[in-house]
Amino acid sequence: MYLITNGWIVTMDKQRNIYRNGALAIDGSRITEVGETNALKQKYPQAEIIDATNKVVIPGLVNGHVHLFQVLYRGLGDDLALADWLSECIYRMSLNLTGNDVYHATLLAATEMLKGGVTCYVDSHYINWDLSCQDKIAEATVLSGIRGIMGRSTVDVAPVPEKLREAVDQAIRESERIIKTYHNQADGLLKVRLEPLNEALASTEMMLAMREVSRQYGVGMNMHMMEALPRVRTMTAKFGMTPVKYLYKLGILDSDLLLAHCCWVDDVDMDLIAETGAKVAHNPVSNQYLADGVAPVPRMLEKGIVVTIGSDGACSNNNHDMFEAMKLTALMHKVKNLDPEIMTAEKVLTMATIDAARALGLEDEIGSLEAGKRADVVLVDIDHPSMTPCFNPVSNLVYAATSNAVNTVLVNGRIVVQDRNLLTLDEEKVLHDANQAAWNLAEKSGAINQ
Ligand SMILES: [Zn+2]
Repeated sequence: MYLITNGWIVTMDKQRNIYRNGALAIDGSRITEVGETNALKQKYPQAEIIDATNKVVIPGLVNGHVHLFQVLYRGLGDDLALADWLSECIYRMSLNLTGNDVYHATLLAATEMLKGGVTCYVDSHYINWDLSCQDKIAEATVLSGIRGIMGRSTVDVAPVPEKLREAVDQAIRESERIIKTYHNQADGLLKVRLEPLNEALASTEMMLAMREVSRQYGVGMNMHMMEALPRVRTMTAKFGMTPVKYLYKLGILDSDLLLAHCCWVDDVDMDLIAETGAKVAHNPVSNQYLADGVAPVPRMLEKGIVVTIGSDGACSNNNHDMFEAMKLTALMHKVKNLDPEIMTAEKVLTMATIDAARALGLEDEIGSLEAGKRADVVLVDIDHPSMTPCFNPVSNLVYAATSNAVNTVLVNGRIVVQDRNLLTLDEEKVLHDANQAAWNLAEKSGAINQ
């Protein structure tokens, strides 16, 4: 049993309680109590103490949208529009991407995320010519100790190269295999969601098939949606309506659907998303990097849509720093609307924690520091140059902190990062192996030395 003591605890519970000299009791994988340090010390005298003096204690951050494999492509996709970025970087590299590469990518991405206070990721993996990729993601995720929401994604439409396209029957078969093998495994650390990649590169037949399988097995679904304007225009012309309206017509929109991006949704689209209870994953850094557009997030929030925040892949960001993503979420909507009040630090932190949990249907398990929840906990240094002085911990977390201020991280009640050191993996080896895999892949793919 652990007792985190003397911390500035930002619970993100319903009342948004903050304890100035707080403590958090953890038994096994779950939080048993949150309160004042002296009271909890008396109640749990046997507990092993984790001293949080000069630290802010927050729920683990959720990276609501990422592509783990893309960490090996970091820096290869600069200064391209979405369509060119896909063909020049993603497809070119992915034609050679093996399960073994994905294993090293997952370890590297998990290392970066855990050390940056991210305790849960939502992946989207759509490179399936080597069917061991999802198995390797699961294996590396469990080794690292991070909570992983595996996204079994698929594409079946040109201009995706034929090698990367998947027949609908194979997508169904493999989705069922991945769900049966990994969903809710590793003491609940692993979950599976299905994903027809987006409105353009997955056929209607594929969208409907994935929707059916995800409903049959009770797993959620993800999709990229209305990301960049050229594609939105093409698909709106093809469907005779916007892609969101098309999904609604097909019966695909539902409360277990998480839509990434939604940069170009109109008012009616947002009403349909709100009506069906579908959720949105906002990716401010990636949307700026690819010049996709600015998603109307304040309007979504007004309509009651649950919005979470993601980094997106590391070759359209190019890191997995959720502190940066939180800050840019606030700043991009303030400047877009010329209104500094439109997005507050508290709302942004909510989006990266408890609203992210709600977006995944996991609000009873993670997203806040409350008795009964899984102990996904992050201790952030206040005695850090970027965090001093700290008048308001939520303000500093969103506007001042970088992931470098993260000191200690627990996932599922297990200490995975302590004093900035990753305990679960040999970090030097992770970086070395991933670096080697990336260079080999880039050489083989002709992405470098041209
Ligand atoms: Zn994405």
